[in-house]
Amino acid sequence: MKALVFNGPKNIQYENFDDPKITNNSNLIIKVEKCSICGSDLHIYHGAEGVSEDYSKPMPKFCTGHETIGEVVDIGSGVSTHKIGDRVLISAAAGCGQCKRCLKGEINMCENTRGGNGATAYGTSPRVNGGHAEFLEVPFADFGAAKIPDGVSDEQAILLTDALATGYYGVKMAHVKPGNSVAVIGQGPVGLMAAEAAMAIGASRVYCIDPDVTRRNLSLIFGGIPLSPDEALAYIREDTRGIGVDAVIEAVGVGPTLKQAVRLLRSGGSLAVLGILHNDSELPLKIMQAKSLNFHAGISGVVNQWEELIPLVQGGRIQGKGVFTHEFSLADGTEAFRLFDAHEDGVIKVMMTL
Ligand SMILES: [Zn+2]
Ligand SMILES: [Zn+2]
Repeated sequence: MKALVFNGPKNIQYENFDDPKITNNSNLIIKVEKCSICGSDLHIYHGAEGVSEDYSKPMPKFCTGHETIGEVVDIGSGVSTHKIGDRVLISAAAGCGQCKRCLKGEINMCENTRGGNGATAYGTSPRVNGGHAEFLEVPFADFGAAKIPDGVSDEQAILLTDALATGYYGVKMAHVKPGNSVAVIGQGPVGLMAAEAAMAIGASRVYCIDPDVTRRNLSLIFGGIPLSPDEALAYIREDTRGIGVDAVIEAVGVGPTLKQAVRLLRSGGSLAVLGILHNDSELPLKIMQAKSLNFHAGISGVVNQWEELIPLVQGGRIQGKGVFTHEFSLADGTEAFRLFDAHEDGVIKVMMTL
C-alpha cells in the first residue's frame, strides 16, 4: 500500500509500506477514506523528544496519523460490533480494550500498553502504525472503532477521533458548568472545539484567545469572544469585575500560555491543560497554590467522550464549522504537513482524502 511514512524530522514521505494484516482476532482492517493531521503530529514532525520516543534519533519507519475514518474491509473472528462494509471512525488512542481502565473508556490510562503507562496513539511510533495510509489495522475494534452515526458528517467524524473528543475532555476536566465564564487559550482545532463544546453545555461567556486573528475570529460562529493574547487579561478582568474566569482550558502547552492561564483564573477556578507540554514547560505553582486552583493535565480517552458528544453533534449543538480549511490527497501529504506546520494560507486543519 501507499502511506505517509516517518523517515525522520521534517521528512514524512508518501511511499510504499507493507499492507497491514489482522494480527489478533479482536482486530479489523479499514480502507481509509479520509484522515487529518493533528497538532501533536507536529512534535513528531519536528523531531521532538516525546514521553517514550525521541523523534530526533533514528528509529524504524512507521505510518503517521491518528485521525482516521474508513470502511471495514477485513475483520477478525472475535469482533462482534462491526461488519464488512461499515463506515467507522477510529479513536486516536489504541488501548488493550480489556483492562479496567479501557473498559471504562479511559483508553489513555490503559494498564496493558507501554508497560502500564497508558495507551499509545496510532502513528506515533513503530508500535502501532497510523492511519495516514491506504489501510489501517484497528486493534480491539469493538472498543476503539464506532460506526459513523447518522447525522454526523465526515468532517465531524474526523473531529470525533481526537480534536473534539480532546476539547470536550478539557471542558470536563476544567469542570465547566452552565453559567460559567471560560477562557480557552489557543484556537487551533482542539482549542476551537473546546470553546464550542463549552458554549454547547451552557457556558455564559467563552473567551477565545489566539495571536492569529483568523483563528480566534472563527469562534464568532458559535458565540465566542475572540481576544488577542495582549488584550485578553485587561479585557477579561474588566468583564469579570476583576475576579477572573471560572475555568481556563489551555490548548498550547508552553510556559507563557500556562502562566497566562493561571493569571486569568479566579481564585478557586479550574485549569485544564490539553496542550502537549514540552520538557521545559513551566507552571507557576506558587500562584496556583495562592489562588487555590484545581488543576488537571491529561490526554483524552476519546471513546469515553462519544456517548455525550455524538448526540451533541447530531443535534447541531456542536458543529465544528470552519475548522477544515484545506483539502489534499494523501499523495500530497508531505505538502499538507509542510503547510499545516508553517501555518500558511490561513490553515486551521487539513483533510486528506484517498
Ligand atoms: Zn492528536
Ligand atoms: Zn487497556
